[in-house]
Amino acid sequence: MIEANNPSLRSWLEIPANSDFPIQNLPFGIFSTTSLSARVGVAIGDKVLNLSALLAAGFLSTSNELPFTESDYSASTLNPIINHGKAATRLLRARISSLLSSDSSELRVATDSHSACIIDLSSVTMHLPVNVGDYTDCYSSEDHARNVGKMFRDPENALLPNWKHMPVAYHGRASSIVVSDTPITRPHGQLKPSENEPPVYGPSRLLDFELEMAFITHPGKSLGQPISTEEADDYIFGLVLFNDWSARDIQKWEYIPLGPFLGKNFASSISPWIVTLDALEPFRVSGPIQDPKVLPYLEYSGNSHYDIDLEVEISTPNGDSKIVCRSNFKHMYWNMRQQLAHHTVNGCNIRGGDMIASGTISGPKEGSFGSMLEISWKGTKPVAMPDGTERRFINDGDTVTMRGSKKSTTGISIGFGEVSGKLLPAN
Ligand code: MN
Repeated sequence: MIEANNPSLRSWLEIPANSDFPIQNLPFGIFSTTSLSARVGVAIGDKVLNLSALLAAGFLSTSNELPFTESDYSASTLNPIINHGKAATRLLRARISSLLSSDSSELRVATDSHSACIIDLSSVTMHLPVNVGDYTDCYSSEDHARNVGKMFRDPENALLPNWKHMPVAYHGRASSIVVSDTPITRPHGQLKPSENEPPVYGPSRLLDFELEMAFITHPGKSLGQPISTEEADDYIFGLVLFNDWSARDIQKWEYIPLGPFLGKNFASSISPWIVTLDALEPFRVSGPIQDPKVLPYLEYSGNSHYDIDLEVEISTPNGDSKIVCRSNFKHMYWNMRQQLAHHTVNGCNIRGGDMIASGTISGPKEGSFGSMLEISWKGTKPVAMPDGTERRFINDGDTVTMRGSKKSTTGISIGFGEVSGKLLPAN
């Protein structure tokens, strides 16, 4: 077991009940305050640890075998930390865990350092945690792919012939990935209201969310060198919640033959705290039996899926809200190891801070579908909201919030916080 995951660990800091951030989590993010520029922090309970202040106070010295310098901790993105690789970030998490553990008095007794090192979460502003170099979106939930295939193609042969042979994906747009709480403006584009009419230009009328998770990579191998499913975990730093905002009407008219473009690249929202892959170790579960058998480079061993409960809430402008989806990350057909192995099997290189999203995570039953397209079944089954209105897609003024967390069998609950975004009317 990774010592920082030990369920018997307790922190000397008081952790609020049901916090997403117990000592066994320790997610990384970028925060600022009214007096501090954006820099690296680690969440614990309702506090943020200021790593540059911890370094200045002597708690992260190189005698702890940590390779990081002041410029890594005071950077406005996590890329410099992530670029040191898995072994280094693992040592850092272990060191922070030990500083916060009730077994250690080092930081606890240094009360003169507390105000600089330990900051109330309620007083910080969170920023985009990584400078995303490249972003790829997969299509790895069988239930989602099947639902979309049933709606738009053939109910009898909903999956395309390649789907069970490879984790299908497309290269997305990194520049429009934004942190939670960034407002999203309804996009304009080309729409084709009906088969027989010409296309028109205007605001999207079918604005949707996609419930996804995304992983962030450490620097990979050189160009030409694939990463195997066995090696994949060494290149995955951690995960965030990911809302892949989608304009269904723009998407429908543009996507043949080259795939998603303007229907997707206007915005994607992510949660601000990156939960390390290490912290998710207790939540590994087995995946579905893959039939037909996959090609050897996609074979994997051991539990490679993760049991994380996910939910999506829509809040209306008058303050009412409704959970419209409860799903789970374990519903993926293709796991992250397979996604990364497939992504690099042709020699494509990955860099530190690249982001690879899962694709919409739908479960098998109604109520667990991860997009309004599926929930309202192309608009034919509107969702009744508590204020008496209906939703087929997302209305101007609505806020979409996604959450993810899980309690382990040992009673430790790890969470991602949330990713939230309000939809503003088209300009
Ligand atoms: Mn997507």
